[in-house]
Amino acid sequence: MNASLDAFAEGKLAALEHQNLRRSLAENRRDDAIWITRGGRRLLSFSCNDYLNLSQNLEIVEAAIAATRRFGVGACASRLVTGNHPLYAELEESLATAKGTQAACVFGSGYLANAGIIPVLAGAADMILIDELAHACIWAGATLSGARILRFRHNSANHAAEILAAHRAEHRHALILTDHVFSMDGDVAPVSELLKIAEEHTAWLMCDDAHGLGVVAYAGAKPPLQMGTLSKAIGGYGGYLCASAPVIDLIRNRARTFIYSTGLPPGTVAGAIGALKFIAKEPDYCARPLQLARRFTSAVGLPDASSPIVALILGSAQNALEASRMLAEEGFLVTVIRPPTVPDGTARLRFTFTAKHPEAEVDRLAGIIRRKIVAEGLSGLGRSQDLDF
Ligand SMILES: *Cc1c(COP(=O)(O)O)cnc(C)c1O
Repeated sequence: MNASLDAFAEGKLAALEHQNLRRSLAENRRDDAIWITRGGRRLLSFSCNDYLNLSQNLEIVEAAIAATRRFGVGACASRLVTGNHPLYAELEESLATAKGTQAACVFGSGYLANAGIIPVLAGAADMILIDELAHACIWAGATLSGARILRFRHNSANHAAEILAAHRAEHRHALILTDHVFSMDGDVAPVSELLKIAEEHTAWLMCDDAHGLGVVAYAGAKPPLQMGTLSKAIGGYGGYLCASAPVIDLIRNRARTFIYSTGLPPGTVAGAIGALKFIAKEPDYCARPLQLARRFTSAVGLPDASSPIVALILGSAQNALEASRMLAEEGFLVTVIRPPTVPDGTARLRFTFTAKHPEAEVDRLAGIIRRKIVAEGLSGLGRSQDLDF
């Protein structure tokens, strides 16, 4: 029995290897906010989602330690049993205030949040419309819901409207799901337009603000369902939904990943409270990641960044791996993003800019990309929305 199991695994791995898609774990030691030691080399990381470097903020670390001393390392049960320790109420209040909603519900992670929220809001009689480039956990939640899933072209509110016009009447409810800031492309969803068509077709809109919170604000009106994570600019771990009081109450009663999973450790919750306080009082610092991303796109000759994430599409996984190795030689850590995380043929370098990246290093990185990648024509300079797939 074990022989057939191992043969199955080895066969699958060999196929991945053949396509340059086999992945492996590298040990990363974080020395401070932006430096990582990997394979014995110290590299300047442009691959962390810690946009405000808060994972290493000493005051926040101290707050997490103090909470751990006081309340212990774990929550010890689901929040509905005995895991709802005293810091949760403060975190949920801070999140609701930051997002301008009546209430908030914190989950174990962003993935767990989407896997739990979506099946509460939609079921077999309903339709879910999803941007084709939305995050994997949105698709996971939609699949778990049993609703009919339809995809609309990336950032095309018009296409979403066409689908609603054609199919809305066949369903009880319609839920529209999109990333706010797209995690692998760095562009921003047309939230105001989506809100408008949602209203026209009596649909509900949920935006996943994993990469927005703290660094990219909603441009206009906010969606009624604001989901996100505490693992990116917040620097820690956990997911959340901010919404009206009745919706949050329903989520706490029905979301399976909330009910049947243990609460977050007290130290993690205390860290997130500290990060939200920091963000509320440091708007200039929070603007830095986007400013640095724009400095980079302008120096390379790419379209203006609209978030701290910049994608440089190189097509094949092999091209992207070669480019990443070349950057490591220069002292930069820029990891490759390959299918199935992104569509076939759009393997890329994904750069993330954080508040503490020195301008001189951003300029040096941009110079290398321009000379060694752009000038040599390795890249079509497209973002994935320009590609036909
Ligand atoms: C990272 C990410 C998630 C998952 O959040 P975790 O807290 O890491 O599980 C969800 N949605 C988007 C868009 C993300 O980028």
